[in-house]
Amino acid sequence: AHQPLTLLGLGAMGTALARAWLAARHPLTVWNRSQHRAAPLAAEGATVAGTAAEAVAASRLVVVCLLDDESVRQTLADTDLTGRDVVNLSTGTPGQARALARWVEDRGARFLDGGIMAVPPMIGVPDSGGYILYSGSTDAFEAYRHTLAVPAGTRYVGADPGFAALHDVALLSAMTGMFSGIAHAFALIRREEIAPKEFAPLLAEWLAAMAGSAHLTAAQLESGDHTTGVASNLAMMVTANATLLRTAEEQGVSTELLTPYTGLMADVRPAGQGAESHPGGVDLLLR
Ligand code: NDP
Repeated sequence: AHQPLTLLGLGAMGTALARAWLAARHPLTVWNRSQHRAAPLAAEGATVAGTAAEAVAASRLVVVCLLDDESVRQTLADTDLTGRDVVNLSTGTPGQARALARWVEDRGARFLDGGIMAVPPMIGVPDSGGYILYSGSTDAFEAYRHTLAVPAGTRYVGADPGFAALHDVALLSAMTGMFSGIAHAFALIRREEIAPKEFAPLLAEWLAAMAGSAHLTAAQLESGDHTTGVASNLAMMVTANATLLRTAEEQGVSTELLTPYTGLMADVRPAGQGAESHPGGVDLLLR
């Protein structure tokens, strides 16, 4: 039996989700604020609701994929959530997810929050590498695990409704650091006779090779010993950082993306020994 469901929001992501459920033959009711976005899905078999309230009334499982927390609140405010199971896939903060969980539960519904680790072309494509993080009601996740696995792989990260958003934002924050590193690396070679297309594979390979440092940081944080398994001690790295900054200056490139992290590493040093590694910096970030 194919679980019927309702989907609120047919932006780029909502439309991709809708197509995945339709392709898997799930009876699907859709609603979007601007109605024109629903027309192509109607032709593909979706039932189009005229209002969000009608859409919510149509199915017990209600998936929401709107712009942000505010649009979710506005949209659900006019609906009767009694006896519904609400799965919010709109991006928000952990605090927003926890508050939304209470708000939805006070209206008689179970709540799951999701963080989509994929872009729309990865949705409904097996082995695309994309997946969706979920947290909140364990019972609701168990009840719908097969339906939720249709658009992308699922990873349930806990009963705390804020955890999906927290994992999502932690991963995106790390990605932001990577993007900043990529921008800086290209700026360094920008004015030289080095083709960006020839440099790119070196950069991508290097980042992939270094990504394993996440495991080392985790091991050190868990043992409390910041020196185990350290191949590059902090004192050496602080010295090497001076070379990074000086090279930026030689190449006429701003050091603004480097200095926050190089400064943090320099701050770790007086506290620990020269052999300390990155985790010392993790705790310096805690406010
Ligand atoms: P789009 O900008 O394509 O779509 C936004 C959707 O939100 C539209 O359906 C829009 O309706 C609706 N909306 C905005 N404001 C309101 C409002 N006040 N009331 C009712 N509906 C409203 O965004 P995406 O579909 O790409 O993203 C949706 C969510 O998915 C976001 O939270 C995003 O962060 C998340 N996400 C997106 C990814 C991506 O790569 N696209 C990746 C991972 C997560 P209307 O058509 O009427 O404007």
